[in-house]
Amino acid sequence: MTDSIIILGSTGSIGTQTLEVARAHGIRVHALTASSNAEKLEEQIREFHPKKAALLSEEAAEDLRVRVADTDTEVLSGIGGICDCASDPGGETVVNAIVGIAGLLPTMDAISAGHNIALANKETLVTGGKLVTRAAREKGVKILPVDSEHSAIFQSLQGAPKNRAIKKILLTASGGPFFGRTRDDLEEVTVEQALNHPNWSMGAKITIDSATMMNKGLEIIEACWLFGVPEDKIQVVVHRESILHSAVMFEDNAVIGQLGLPDMKIPIQYALTYPDRFLCPTEELDLAKLGTLTFADPDTETFDCLAICREAFRRGGLYPTAANSANEQANAMFRQGRIKFLEIGELVGEAMEACDNKQDFNLPDVMAADRLAREFVMERLGLRPAQL
Ligand code: NAD
Ligand code: MG
Repeated sequence: MTDSIIILGSTGSIGTQTLEVARAHGIRVHALTASSNAEKLEEQIREFHPKKAALLSEEAAEDLRVRVADTDTEVLSGIGGICDCASDPGGETVVNAIVGIAGLLPTMDAISAGHNIALANKETLVTGGKLVTRAAREKGVKILPVDSEHSAIFQSLQGAPKNRAIKKILLTASGGPFFGRTRDDLEEVTVEQALNHPNWSMGAKITIDSATMMNKGLEIIEACWLFGVPEDKIQVVVHRESILHSAVMFEDNAVIGQLGLPDMKIPIQYALTYPDRFLCPTEELDLAKLGTLTFADPDTETFDCLAICREAFRRGGLYPTAANSANEQANAMFRQGRIKFLEIGELVGEAMEACDNKQDFNLPDVMAADRLAREFVMERLGLRPAQL
């Protein structure tokens, strides 16, 4: 088990569940970071006594400094402060629970500092997969998946032969709130309907990504980088119950998967205790009580983001960044009521096509592609000022 953690995005859904696991096992919390919620971070500082904390917002950090002036926690601010926490030598494992490409820079800094990464922030691998996996290899640090499907794949690969003999990865998807709907049905769906996920309670961005199935597209790319397989070895299987969290089919057609109730504490804890297992503050799975598990092919026509992400990964270079960042922008615009649900996929596809690609790229290139894709989305919306 890791002896100490640094949590990036500690006030969010994964961040707070990571703290539950830390509380249950007495794992030392060395640093905590978040975007702007000073009140929640103050609570966490008072309970876990980290050496450092950081907020992205300068103003919120100033507020936090006053709130925790009586503690020993040093409060930093801005992306510099978050990266400082991520690379502080006093922590062993960095849990990256930031949402979006904002997690990429701190991940690179944490790797440079030699920390193992427990990675929930899939956008880091989608956009910077090549740079992150190369840096991790060079530094000899582990990238331990927290995303439930990738943790399931990782768990299924324990004990696999040295050549791994992966024939296929079976990446399960709940299908989200709109499973079985046609594009016509989805024309007028509301933000509230899209936020109503059947099985998981998560942050708003990933919940909308689950409704568009962009989340599964991002997860295909995430799996390619984590497990070194091409995208055509990844089969998406819709599994409404979210009990089989994903599986691996080996060359001999044997399929090994990981099952459990949909509770992120299991994959979070495994990333922190790997390769050991301990009691987990979760409910037990009762298969007989469940009775039936169902499986189906995804509807790739309705959920166009799946094919766009596959294409982006096949093209390589900055294409996945263009798709990811257009999605981050479009997802936010949908949540603000500025665009319709189906426009998200359309904007992602168009932004990917408009990508000014470089096959051989560095971190500043990724950040520039991110900006361009966001601007592309905003310009496209600028053509329709009535909706803004
Ligand atoms: P969330 O919105 O609940 O929390 C995000 C955290 O990141 C918050 O602490 C927030 O303050 C911080 N943050 C947001 N923007 C930031 C920025 N620009 N810079 C620095 N910090 C910032 O999100 P979440 O649901 O916990 O998801 C976090 C990541 O984990 C995402 O990449 C998501 O895809 C992935 N993930 C989440 C779940 C889940 O169950 N929630 C499951 C699998 C994977
Ligand atoms: Mg997932």
